Amino acid sequence: MDSEHTKTFFIETFGCQMNFHDSEKVIGTLVQQGYHQVQTVEEADLVFYNTCSIRDKAEQKVFNRLNEYKKLQNQGKKFAVIGCVAQQEGEKIFEKAPYVSLVAGSASYRNLPKMLVQIEQGSRATGLDDRQTDETFETEFTARSNPHRGYITIIEGCDKFCAYCVVPYTRGKERSRTSDSVLGEARRMADAGYTDIQLLGQNVNSYKDPLARKSFAELLTAVGEINGIRRVRFTTSHPRDFTKDIVDAIDALPTLCDHVHLPVQSGSTAVLASMYREYSREQYLERVSWMKSARRHISMTSDIIVGFPGETESEFEETLSLIQEVGYDSIFTFKYSPRPNTPAIDREDSIPEEEKTRRLQVLNDVQREISRANYAKHLGQTLEVMVEGYNPARGQIIGRTSQNKTLNFSIPDGHPQPKIGSYVEAVVTKTLPNSLVGELAASANSAAAD
Ligand code: SAM
Ligand code: SF4
Repeated sequence: MDSEHTKTFFIETFGCQMNFHDSEKVIGTLVQQGYHQVQTVEEADLVFYNTCSIRDKAEQKVFNRLNEYKKLQNQGKKFAVIGCVAQQEGEKIFEKAPYVSLVAGSASYRNLPKMLVQIEQGSRATGLDDRQTDETFETEFTARSNPHRGYITIIEGCDKFCAYCVVPYTRGKERSRTSDSVLGEARRMADAGYTDIQLLGQNVNSYKDPLARKSFAELLTAVGEINGIRRVRFTTSHPRDFTKDIVDAIDALPTLCDHVHLPVQSGSTAVLASMYREYSREQYLERVSWMKSARRHISMTSDIIVGFPGETESEFEETLSLIQEVGYDSIFTFKYSPRPNTPAIDREDSIPEEEKTRRLQVLNDVQREISRANYAKHLGQTLEVMVEGYNPARGQIIGRTSQNKTLNFSIPDGHPQPKIGSYVEAVVTKTLPNSLVGELAASANSAAAD
């Protein structure tokens, strides 16, 4: 990299919303340090790979990709492996792929500027020792890819240590940002035209304002009251720390979206105990009852793992009965996957792969019918959507409801297309198991192009 040449980087991101948003902050930091983002590995001087190790053979996939990079090292490119696999495999990455210059877990990203200088000088840089830090990655230089809806991290790391999960080992200990700092970022986003904000954390409900100014529910409300903000979401909630004041806040303030993602993982109290989830089926259902008795209809979604070590057929059936009792709008379902360092790794992975596949299939089949019935209830309703994009092939506008449901709608012939990021109302004319179809509401016709 000579001084005349603009330094370029390419970044590839795997995994959850946290990883996606981490990458937005990493990109912002790199741009601030004089780098220019490019869209291919070929064009890049520096290749960033933001990894995820939550399931499957994540480590193997990373090493396969690094092998592909090997032949590019002669072109003078530098490689950086960041994220959960980087934290988990650490120095092993340098052993297996000596051409890698930087290996860092998310708890070290705040040191990126320093690490970039090190690798530019030809040294190796590591950021693996920060998991016990109390500091969060505060940066003004987040390169958000969507100009209308954006994430804000409110809490990093996780102290829950669920028996199956790598996150506490890869993202480090739980640490919250101050509510002042979160609100400052939200206000800046509102000033820049953002209307939809999603508060992020592995467990947002254990948010603890370091200055003790606001509880999570109060922070939620304060973000929802910022001028210009029309929608606030939050993810992920942990049932143990999910308190009734969160439901009350949603009920009281229309800008707080009527959707809660509350992963249950299993409907069996015995399985929950062996997962170290710290709540029972009954306690989970109590939280559901708070939401069901709210004045607004709150959409609920969940994550479920099938085939956890020792899960019996009847325990699995308890999960089936729970999803029916709750009536989720949708669920993310996973086969248990043994992960390094986790407590469950020492237990026998006792459910055969075919049986996990069968349980997953049964669960998804039962949920499809629940979703179908829930979505059918929207028929004829007029819903506000944020315009997300266009589907020219179908002649439809892609919209998202406050409940986080996709509503694809058509507009009258000759009517100007509503702008991406604008809010319009659409009438639901058809329902599918996982999306809604509709038409621009008559009252929205005149306002749509504003
Ligand atoms: N912090 C969130 C929570 O507590 O629900 C979610 C964390 S994780 C990124 C997202 C989901 O992946 C979890 O809710 C769980 O269902 C699933 N998951 C995590 N570890 C898993 C494993 N070892 N095998 C299968 N699924 C897993
Ligand atoms: Fe993983 Fe449990 Fe923490 Fe969620 S709460 S990130 S599942 S350890």
